[in-house]
Parts: sequence; structure tokens; C-alpha cells
Amino acid sequence: MALSGIQIYKLLPQTNCKECGFPTCLAFAMKLAAKQVELSACPYVSEASKAQLAESAAPPIRLITLKSNGYEVKAGNEVVLYRHEKTFYNRPGLFVRISDQLPVEEISALAADVEGYTTNYVGIDLTMDGIAVQAVSGDPAKFADAVKLVRKSSRRPMILMSDNPSVIAAGLKELSGDAAMIYSATSANWEVMAELAGTHKAALAVSSGSLEELADLTEKIKAKGVEDLVLDPVGDNLGSSLVLSTQIRRLALKKNFRSLGYPVVSFPKSPEAAAQAIAKYSGFVVIDHFTAELAYPLLVLRQNIYTDPQKPIQVQPGIYEINSPKPDSPVLVTTNFSITYFSVANEVEGSGLLAWLVVCDAEGMSVLTAWAAGKFDAERIAKSIKGFNVAEKVSRKRVVIPGHVAVLSGELEAELPDWEIRVGPREALDLPKYMKEALGN
Ligand code: SF4
Repeated sequence: MALSGIQIYKLLPQTNCKECGFPTCLAFAMKLAAKQVELSACPYVSEASKAQLAESAAPPIRLITLKSNGYEVKAGNEVVLYRHEKTFYNRPGLFVRISDQLPVEEISALAADVEGYTTNYVGIDLTMDGIAVQAVSGDPAKFADAVKLVRKSSRRPMILMSDNPSVIAAGLKELSGDAAMIYSATSANWEVMAELAGTHKAALAVSSGSLEELADLTEKIKAKGVEDLVLDPVGDNLGSSLVLSTQIRRLALKKNFRSLGYPVVSFPKSPEAAAQAIAKYSGFVVIDHFTAELAYPLLVLRQNIYTDPQKPIQVQPGIYEINSPKPDSPVLVTTNFSITYFSVANEVEGSGLLAWLVVCDAEGMSVLTAWAAGKFDAERIAKSIKGFNVAEKVSRKRVVIPGHVAVLSGELEAELPDWEIRVGPREALDLPKYMKEALGN
């Protein structure tokens, strides 16, 4: 039974020392009751109180980690329903399903494709997380061979899929040392599957179309000593999957319903369903086929949802060279919000034109937002131009500011009297045309 804020408060030191970041022990207790902080933030809780607070301190959604060869996929430990309330922490693992019935060469090629896929988005390398091998054959030996083949091409974590414990056991033998996921335990096989999960230290997915049965199964499996569980609520269309995932998340977070306090695994049948699973609220997403055209938007979507909304993705302020600029190349100015930087840099780079790009420290905000917040003004731009010694690199002192902040041109002329101030287009997309037509590049 979860403790209330007042009950938690009674177990805290009540010295109001503020070291936890809150002004009083009561404020900290209220946050702890709401699952918005961790007990470890208070260094003075006695061991006796810690034991009593364990239930309240435990995350409402258990953290599950799949591991192999130095790779890790973590899911769970989430504390909010909506990203804007705080943030989502552990990005759902993206897995690709491979059938053991595929020809040997296809299994190896597909596993190698998944392993080797990397794409760069706003300066961050994005990759797939692992492979789910499905025992379509039902044959333990064939399944074990498929797992072995996949492991030769991919070092990433695996999910082993079969409702037959003998088949799963054959696959697990090929993955010694890994923390894999077994998919899945049902009302028919849960006891044997739980034994396998316990012996091999694997996470165990539990499947049922009914939340009542799921909760019943997790309790029984937990009683056997297996606690690393994953829920498969078996929604058969977009609507039912969304409802089940949302109910699980709500019950875990709002009602502290421990029986459903585990990450969810999804098997979307379409790109839309995969996008929905990423947004709401899967911890592991297993797609049926792999192409770069499918992987890229899913990875980018995941990246955008699993970033802290209070901490914009930033690039280092400085002067960047685009296409090896010459001293008479123009100086473009923008902010250090990653998406803004990459929009500008990619447009100019792709056009083959030469430019110096000065990235001002605008606390990671985009041009208009930073301007409105007073973080991107003439003074800051001038400070960057001077601070990065831009004048030493160019023979023609010509700086182009974004069209959205055309209003700054007068002030900037005053700040940089020996520079020619030009107002560029509002959108990065129009930069190449502007540079050719207005700057004569
Ligand atoms: S660190 Fe602990 S003792 Fe100090 S104010 Fe926070 S909860 Fe109270």
C-alpha cells in the first residue's frame, strides 16, 4: 500500500536542511508520494525509515534492462503520463522481428542490416536496438540455429519469441551471458517460462488480452521470484492498443497498481501503429520488417519524444566552416538550437555554396523564441562575432542575420560599425537562392 505524503513526512528527518533541493521535508515528502523524486535525494534517511519507505520509493514502472556485449536497452522508470509534465526517460527499444523459417542467408543479411544501420539526426547517431527472433518453425534446433546466426551478425540484445518453453530454452543456450527477453508467458505456460527466466536472468514478457489476467499472471510470476517482467496487452488494432497501453500507464502511475507496473512490449503491424507505440507508451517496439525508410522516421520520432522538453538540444556556439569558405565568403548568423543549426548548415552545405556560420549562444532556443526571450539580440550577435574572431578570417566584413530578426539590423549596425549588415531569408530553405541572387555567391 502506497504511503501518503504525511506518512512519508513522519519517516523523514524533519530538519528542513534543503539538501534534497526542496525547502522543507514536507515538500520533499509530497513529491516522493507523487513519484516525482527519488528517496536517494535525501542523504539523511535512516535505514529503518528506508525499509518502510521502500514501497513508496520504488519506481511505479519497474526498470527493465536487456543487455548483450556492452549494449543495453532500458525501459520503464517513467513517472509521468504526459511528456510536458516532466520528461520521458528511457527511449523504447526498437527491435526487428526475424523468423527462424527464413533462409539462412536472409537471416544473416537482415541481422547485419539492422546491426549496421546508423543515421545522424541533429548531430546525434541513431541506431536500432536489437533483434527479436521468432520460432515460426516450432523446432528447438532450427530456432537455436537462427539465434546463433543472428548473434554472428549482431551483438545487440535479443528477444526470443515462442510459446513453447523447450524452444525458448534452446535459444537461451546460445545467449549465455546476455540479459535477453523471453516472449512470452501465458496462462498456459507461465510456470515453466518463469523458471527459464529465473535461471537465465532473462526478462519475461507476459501476454494476455485482458488486464485482469495480466495482473493475475504478474502476481503469480512474481511469487516465483521473477520480477523483471514486461507486459504484452495484445491490442489487435490501433484503438484497442492505445486504450490498453494508456490504462496500464495510468494504473501504474496514478493508482500505484504494482501488478501492472512494468514496461509494455508492442508488435505494431503498420508504421502508424509503430509511431503510436513509441508515443504511447511502449518500452519495447518490435517491427515486422526493416528498411531505412521505416527506421529513420521512427528513430527521429523517438528521439524527439524522449528528450527533456526543458532542455533543448544544443550545438556548441562557435564559428563553423561550410564547404571550406574563403575570406570573401559571407558570414551567416544563427542560434545554437540543434534543429536550427542543422537546418541552416544542411541547406548551405547541400547547395555547395561557401559560408562562415556563426552560432550564437542563445541557450538552445530557435531564432524567434530566442529573440522573444531576449537571448538573441544585437549585443549577443556582436559579442559572438567579436568573441570568435570572425574579422580575422574574412576579407569582406559582411554578416547575414536571419530574416525573422530583421528588426535587429539597425542595432547591429551600431554594435558592428565596420560591418555590412544584411538581412537574409526567414527560412533556411531559401538561403541558397538568397546567397546566389542577393550576395552574388
Ligand atoms: S534533505 Fe532530507 S532532511 Fe533535508 S530537507 Fe530534504 S528531506 Fe528534509
